[in-house]
Amino acid sequence: MQKTGSPMRQKFIEAMTYPRMLMSSHIDASDCPMNRYFNPSHGSCQICEQGKECHWLNSNDEFSALVDQPMDALVAAFEFSVDYVDAYLSRENHSLRRCACENCCWLRDARRLIKKYQNKQKRAARNAHN
Ligand SMILES: [Zn+2]
Repeated sequence: MQKTGSPMRQKFIEAMTYPRMLMSSHIDASDCPMNRYFNPSHGSCQICEQGKECHWLNSNDEFSALVDQPMDALVAAFEFSVDYVDAYLSRENHSLRRCACENCCWLRDARRLIKKYQNKQKRAARNAHN
């Protein structure tokens, strides 16, 4: 049986498909001695400019692993990808408020999803104190 987790978790996992694609298309692996397998204890990974993205891709590539992640870690990984897409779009001069391209739509949805999660957490914390 396939594990799916909560609907919220599933949304985060599905939303990560897009930044995963974007990051892997941006990483230039032509002179990567590790063949894009990130190893934090390897010298060339420690000094690599693309190390953060590469590490992210290596730790967030399989749905099955993400289903077992603690929710906090999953959301933190998601936030990293949101920042990544955000930085990419500002470099490319997209206007997040007005632009209707796929990237900007993804980013708006991603932000909404994080907000929704945070509100849910706040509500849960309030209920726990009552
Ligand atoms: Zn755009």
